[in-house]
Amino acid sequence: MKKVAILGSTGSIGTNALWVISKFQQHFEVVGLTADKNVDLLEKQVRQFNPKIVCLADEEKTGILAERLKGYPGEVVGGQAGLIKVACQADVDLVICAIVGSAGLIPLLEAIKAKKQIGLANKEALVMAGRIVMELARQNGVKILPLDSEHNAIFQCLEGKAPGTVKKIILTGSGGPFRQRMDLETITLEETLKHPTWQMGKKITVDSATLMNKGLEVIEAHYLFDIPVSDITVVIHPQSIIHSMVEFVDGSILAQMSVTDMRIPIAYALSYPERLAGVLSGLNLTQIGMLSFQEPDLDKFPCLSYSYEAVTKGGTGPAVLNAANEIAVQQFLNKEIKFTDIPKIIKKVMGTHKIIESPTLDEILMADTWAREKARNIIKN
Ligand code: NDP
Repeated sequence: MKKVAILGSTGSIGTNALWVISKFQQHFEVVGLTADKNVDLLEKQVRQFNPKIVCLADEEKTGILAERLKGYPGEVVGGQAGLIKVACQADVDLVICAIVGSAGLIPLLEAIKAKKQIGLANKEALVMAGRIVMELARQNGVKILPLDSEHNAIFQCLEGKAPGTVKKIILTGSGGPFRQRMDLETITLEETLKHPTWQMGKKITVDSATLMNKGLEVIEAHYLFDIPVSDITVVIHPQSIIHSMVEFVDGSILAQMSVTDMRIPIAYALSYPERLAGVLSGLNLTQIGMLSFQEPDLDKFPCLSYSYEAVTKGGTGPAVLNAANEIAVQQFLNKEIKFTDIPKIIKKVMGTHKIIESPTLDEILMADTWAREKARNIIKN
């Protein structure tokens, strides 16, 4: 029986992880669950999965949940300290990190220090502090299992391969809803939130439309697999059947394929190194018929180039890119800016940042705060 804590259990990844756990109850026990504000769904999840500890990051809501769960034998905690308490529970084997954005970084670091195995969806944490996260994982002997479908695919392609045999990583991406759209100025929020192949939370759905998601994934792959950025390429694959590929030095390319559903990579991270039988049905290749591949259009979607630029410069660059993007996406979701303003804001913030090389965690958090403030001011003015 694997004991699991899910940080961000009310989100798209969190609910899919709980779907897998409920289908394979004999293999898993839910010890802890967390959300930010969604009291209703968290309460429902608590009643279904009986975790011994539950947390709302938004401390104003913690009392409401505690009131509703009166008589429930588990503990209700709040805030960042509460998230850390859930992540570090003594009997937890695996922590699924599925908080969206920078709020997931500190709980992830604390879970690693507590030597928990990690199922990582929260790509922003790796983008901000990849070097620190991976170094801490090495020091504590912690394995980081990627939940992101692309990185889960690469992880599977790399398993059992001799060191030094990888030539490059080929990250695939659907291209988002605007791959064929000519006029980006008139894009609405509603159109942006209709992803052609994946069902996901709002922030990552916007990131997929700007191709920032692919850029964040390039940075994530660089740190996770310790591969130079120059050996990571992005290929647009609109069918989203191949989730990524690895090219080896002899010219062989391995690809991982499955239906376009996050429950497949989530199940693999949950059950690793085993595989759960019958998570979802396999692919009907003759029905799919054709797989196609194109180069990404970097003029139309500059966020992907900004990500390459940020990780190549290194230091605090990726944290600043990430923070500016988080603010710009939130403003777009609030309908305060246009779709095409998102890359403009990121470029401006990156352009005024003085990179700190090999930053400490405090310097990364300071760069994050600085970039958020800067991005907000661009929008105000
Ligand atoms: P959602 O927005 O659907 O869910 C986010 C979760 O994090 C919710 O449980 C939310 O709680 C919680 N949360 C939000 N803000 C905070 C905060 N400040 N402190 C603590 N908890 C918080 O996101 P997704 O599930 O789509 O994505 C989660 C992560 O996984 C992201 O980093 C994303 O990039 C990555 N990912 C997602 C994929 C997907 O298919 N969705 C695919 C690959 C990666 P509440 O519900 O209360 O707001």
